[in-house]
Amino acid sequence: MKAVVFEEHGGAKALQYKDVAEPKVGPNDVLIKVRAASCNYNDIWARRGLPGMKVIMPHISGSDAAGEVVEVGSEVSDFNPQDEVMVYPGLSCRTCEFCANGRDTFCRQYKIWGFQTGPLDGAHAEFVRLPAFNVIPKPKGLGWEEAASLPLVLLTAWRMLVGRARIQAGDFVLVWGAAGGLGTIAVQICRTVGAQAIAVASSDEKLEFCRKLGAEHLINRKTQDIAEEVRKITNRRGVDIVFEHVGNATWPQSVASLKWGGTLVTCGATSGFEAVTDLRFLWNKQMNFLGSHMGNKTDLLEAMRWVESGQVKPVVSQVFPLRETGQAQTLMESGEVMGKFVLVPD
Ligand code: NDP
Repeated sequence: MKAVVFEEHGGAKALQYKDVAEPKVGPNDVLIKVRAASCNYNDIWARRGLPGMKVIMPHISGSDAAGEVVEVGSEVSDFNPQDEVMVYPGLSCRTCEFCANGRDTFCRQYKIWGFQTGPLDGAHAEFVRLPAFNVIPKPKGLGWEEAASLPLVLLTAWRMLVGRARIQAGDFVLVWGAAGGLGTIAVQICRTVGAQAIAVASSDEKLEFCRKLGAEHLINRKTQDIAEEVRKITNRRGVDIVFEHVGNATWPQSVASLKWGGTLVTCGATSGFEAVTDLRFLWNKQMNFLGSHMGNKTDLLEAMRWVESGQVKPVVSQVFPLRETGQAQTLMESGEVMGKFVLVPD
């Protein structure tokens, strides 16, 4: 089969579109013919290499896929060939105390499929093999590309806001990177629960895109002061929740924008891992700093109900042939993405 593979860390040129062996199903696995996969920033982290994380080479990235079942293992009874499916990209041991009570992300073996796994096992290929546990039916109303754009960002944004920060109607939520993959879902979750999203982005074009998704307030981070705008919007109170994934570059402004007793929830650090906190703000304003990582299968299934009812929509901005994964990643690195980029095998 054709796949996008890298054998050493580097820039987009490290990606090779080449022939590799098709995956073989084990007794509990499902083999899927990929009709669409999506791009995530994690693909770029894996390709560049991350301190403290060993990427197994040769590596096929990709943590989201939608496609047709072509084969099932001898122990699989929930799926049949030709079923239309999508994936839950969290892999864990399924036996430890955390997996047993549905807290998969606390499992010491928890891994993001296509990011921390390998070799040759991610979604940027013509076929993928996954345990049946990691396969869910694709809603009939969703196209392949729409379905493939969802799992990782939907799951992560859902857990950050609903599971961790306990978002409520009336909350003000500062959403960094609001036009990006996570951000576009976060804005829609806010709108659905009756919270007010304050979208932050780097251009007016991106902000207009966020407004159409339901953001009530818009801040251009290139031309406006974030904390000052937040004070105006919230009548000096500060936001209830900050939706963080940028890290070093935005952390001080995130802390300055929080209300007394507010909650900052983070899952990433696109701009750098070292964030400086003036601890006086943490204790005096009695803030809550929460980490969040992916989510469990139930989170994804619950979030998918909101997709099926039309409250949260997939946001696919561009579709690339699989062989052009490098171009898609280069555009992502330059910050030009609105919503999700999707890859389609030739
Ligand atoms: P995208 O590339 O789709 O969006 C990232 C957004 O961040 C951009 O739209 C950009 O918005 C904004 N941004 C980038 N640099 C800066 C900066 N210096 N200051 C302010 N804003 C900035 O990425 P994703 O939404 O898919 O992922 C975001 C991060 O979350 C990544 O680091 C990813 O690895 C992490 N992540 C973590 C997960 C987990 O479970 N732990 C799961 C999913 C993602 P603009 O320039 O318009 O302001």
